[in-house]
Amino acid sequence: MISAVRRLQFCYGHRVYNHESKCANLHGHNGVVFIHAKAPQGLDKLGRVIDFSLLKDLVGNWIEEEWDHRMILFKDDVATIDLLSKASWSKKPFILDANPTAENMAKFLLEDLSPKLFYGKGIIIHKVVFYETENCYAEVSIEPNDPKVLERFGILIANSF
Ligand SMILES: [Zn+2]
Repeated sequence: MISAVRRLQFCYGHRVYNHESKCANLHGHNGVVFIHAKAPQGLDKLGRVIDFSLLKDLVGNWIEEEWDHRMILFKDDVATIDLLSKASWSKKPFILDANPTAENMAKFLLEDLSPKLFYGKGIIIHKVVFYETENCYAEVSIEPNDPKVLERFGILIANSF
């Protein structure tokens, strides 16, 4: 099956809560994300999985609004959240349910965000690759033919057989 992939980049700050070494310090990254989309019911009339601009508009705009130039913190990192709440920000830190590693941020984009953004649009996001640095990345994927995955993206498989 064919995938369409959109690259997106953004800047963010974080720290890895309880990290054994320097990642416990507040620091920043230029993150690069690759969003992989498939069309379970086939390409559209123009021969596309989805218009690339729609991937950018939906995921790119969400990232720009919620993560770009922002601190991303684990909800259990109460001391840092409390400390930073005293500062003035154009946007307060984004609180994640898990430690803000590349793995967990990729998982959030794939499992939490994508089904909401793309519900009923005829595609599924089946893989997210998240580069924290040029040399280090995390990759998370889901089984694109799993009926539960299709259901989460609002795709009716009954019509395709
Ligand atoms: Zn880091």
